[in-house]
Amino acid sequence: APVLVLLRDDYRVADNPALHAACATGQPVLCAYVQDAALQDASGTRIADWAQAACAQLATSLHEQGQTLFMLSGPTRLSVPALAQAVHATDVFWNRRYDAPGIAADTDVHASLKKQGVTVHSCTGRLLFEPWAIRTQAGQPYRVFTAWWRAARNLPEPPPPLPAPDIRGKNYAPARTLTLPDGVRLHRVGTQPPALPSGWTSGEKAAHANLHRFIENALADYETQRDRADAPHGTSLLSPYIRVGQISVRQIWHAIRHAEHQNPHLATPAEKFLAELGWRDFAWMQMFTTPDLATRNLRAEFDHMPWRADAADLAAWQQGQTGFPLVDAGMRQLARTGWMHNRVRMVVASFLTKHLLTDWREGERWFYAQLLDADAAVNAMNWQWGAGTGIDAAPWFRIFNPVGQSEKYDPAGQYIRTWVPELAALDNKTIHTPWKSTQRLKYPAPIVDLKLGRLRALENWKNLPK
Ligand code: FAD
Repeated sequence: APVLVLLRDDYRVADNPALHAACATGQPVLCAYVQDAALQDASGTRIADWAQAACAQLATSLHEQGQTLFMLSGPTRLSVPALAQAVHATDVFWNRRYDAPGIAADTDVHASLKKQGVTVHSCTGRLLFEPWAIRTQAGQPYRVFTAWWRAARNLPEPPPPLPAPDIRGKNYAPARTLTLPDGVRLHRVGTQPPALPSGWTSGEKAAHANLHRFIENALADYETQRDRADAPHGTSLLSPYIRVGQISVRQIWHAIRHAEHQNPHLATPAEKFLAELGWRDFAWMQMFTTPDLATRNLRAEFDHMPWRADAADLAAWQQGQTGFPLVDAGMRQLARTGWMHNRVRMVVASFLTKHLLTDWREGERWFYAQLLDADAAVNAMNWQWGAGTGIDAAPWFRIFNPVGQSEKYDPAGQYIRTWVPELAALDNKTIHTPWKSTQRLKYPAPIVDLKLGRLRALENWKNLPK
């Protein structure tokens, strides 16, 4: 009898605890990816395509070892118990997920399988620390990152990554005539990936290549370079791979620790980088404790903020036509590549929520649809951070000046020249303030007066009930 492995956003062979444990049973293994429209990202979003590409890539890797990846389509609660029954599986393995709908579905599946006499193995594969593992002395979730991180760093380090398991000869081929309920289907995952935005290659190999390039060339200067919009390789560019699990955070953690061990000069930037990975866990801890993180102001006074609903302003922001070069460069980089530099994400978020006084949820939704690394918890936490509505967030009155940020983090305008080519001919100074140029430019005038926008944001905030 076979065992089942369910794959969801952990599309890798190495350091995949569920796959590893399934292979260790010595029984035949049936690997399936569950396609459940109710739990999946809407088709047409970038992340849906990126996840599909990751599945195709995993199907290829498994195929090279004689293993087939199946797609099980239908509602999770129905399809998983039905497949287990149809193939007489003894055990089901998965890596745990932490979003409320996912947890609810898995809890129900667990109960059904138990009734059927099937053993469920729920493994830790997605985070460095379980969201319930780190609590204050009073047993409450932390509300401040630095305190949470200090507590995390006092715990034993995450376990070292697992090697790729030996899956050869373990393929379980189900009968062609399986009896499955209406609406549930099992078929092979194709190895043909969908088209992706230029510049991105799907796969575990590509993910590890980025990690090694980063460690070799960029880790030493990470603290200073990570904020430079004009340094295209100042950061690891790992977020899309982490999102679909083509690389695990434990693999990254231990590679960084190893580099640091080899070269003690790397200790400070390495710790900074690990803390960034920590922010991802912190976001999932927040999502686990407040499942409506993407929709509710965590600071309730913001429920009274008179957000503007100006469709033209929102469209200008989305399309990178605000007349502010750094904002437009960021939004166009997002549209073209599905990724945006972190510093610029912070600037465009501040601009939308403060200078344009637009509800952060508009920005959250737009980012989620456009980003290859669109992550329900990380995106929501960062939007709440930027808008000042979250816990441990930037205070509302810290309003980024898009011109000052541009002069500081893209001093020669290289980033702007790449994404806003109509400004490429301007000198290094004027490129940050094209409205001061005497040249005729095919570029919009600023859609908001920075000073007035700032005052409006502060005024409305002061009037919120405290
Ligand atoms: P690196 O600097 O190399 O960092 C390594 C890893 O650390 C990242 O891949 C990521 O997993 C984690 N990390 C870094 N910064 C953060 C952060 N601020 N919060 C949580 N984790 C972090 N990141 C996403 O992965 N998905 C999102 O949907 C997302 N939405 C964002 C929305 C806004 C408004 C802002 C300001 C930031 C958002 N980020 C998001 C965080 C950050 O911008 C990206 O993780 C980072 O730019 C990815 O590039 P990198 O892998 O080269 O980062």
